[in-house]
Amino acid sequence: MPETDSTSQCFKRKKDICSFDYEELKKEIEGIGEQPYRSRQVYEWLHVKLAERFEDMTNLSKKFREKLDEDYEIARVEMIEHQVSKKDPTEKFLFELSDGNMIESVLMKYSYGNSVCISSQAGCRMGCRFCASTIGGLKRNLTPSEMLGQVYQIQRQTKERVSNVVVMGTGEPLDNYDNFVKFIRMLSDEHGLHISQRNITASTCGIVPNMHRLAEEGLQITLALSLHGSTQEKRQKLMPVANQYNLEEVLEACDDYFRKTGRRITFEYSLVAGVNDQPDDVRELTRILKKRNCHMNLIPVNPIKERDYKKPDSKNANEFKNKLEKNGINVTIRKERGSDIDGACGQLRRRYAAANVRRTI
Ligand code: SAH
Repeated sequence: MPETDSTSQCFKRKKDICSFDYEELKKEIEGIGEQPYRSRQVYEWLHVKLAERFEDMTNLSKKFREKLDEDYEIARVEMIEHQVSKKDPTEKFLFELSDGNMIESVLMKYSYGNSVCISSQAGCRMGCRFCASTIGGLKRNLTPSEMLGQVYQIQRQTKERVSNVVVMGTGEPLDNYDNFVKFIRMLSDEHGLHISQRNITASTCGIVPNMHRLAEEGLQITLALSLHGSTQEKRQKLMPVANQYNLEEVLEACDDYFRKTGRRITFEYSLVAGVNDQPDDVRELTRILKKRNCHMNLIPVNPIKERDYKKPDSKNANEFKNKLEKNGINVTIRKERGSDIDGACGQLRRRYAAANVRRTI
């Protein structure tokens, strides 16, 4: 039955075809009376050839393409702005979704391949104190097609294969659990871009029940935990989510993920001068992490104008790292990239929001 809108006019909402996984698409295509092999062709057009319009799917009959166009839509992830760093091989993209929401993604080129950092939500409700993405709150969850669309758009733009994906842009992936897990499965599906799960990392602020759930999914992705505080009290000051799940529970969930997947956890730690870069932090972090098979990533905080947090100078950051290393922690300082192009999470989107108040950001 067609759905009815508030003005009681009849309209048919088109289905979001890129959010159907391979099996689901098969059922859809068979449901409209087409041969099963057609679904393989359509899936390939959408997820390998990255077609943006049904009319471009030239090995399908015109009638079939028209039928698809009537009932389905290819989610719009439209590039609004593209910044290229002059300092390092980093590019930043601002995309507009079909409802006017804006999201951002980053491309980082490395010797081993092209890595794309994607957003999992429009906005975020986690409220981490130093993060620009959370300032306007959560607008909505992204669909699998909108998460895939960011990777696809960047691959179309660069005409180069994306080899790695990190879910570290705006949003909390484990607050959009089902769509996020479906996205991972589709991104790594052999019928699609087939990006190895071992080349995918997702970062969470520590939503404990969903970390345990993720451990059971049989995935091989790397889980990164945003730690940011060396004790429960310090973590609470920077991350409101710590009021809901305490440090001990979060670490236990990390252990569970490692036990069940064999994947080593990455701990992320945004270094904030005078807040979490003190000698007692080295002591506490050593106590927590020494017994764990993990990697630690120090990220000197990227100051945002809405908050008064400062990054430690590089000498202090290096000292902090060296002390941890001496204590047996496997640790690196994340090299800053794209600092000339609104590099920090959510900054491009924030700047755009300030300049275009009429838009839904
Ligand atoms: N919601 C997920 C993904 C967020 S962004 C999470 O919390 O992990 C990825 C990482 O960047 C997180 O560790 C986040 O805390 C960190 N981050 C956000 N804003 C930052 C800033 N201004 N400076 C340094 N790190 C920041």
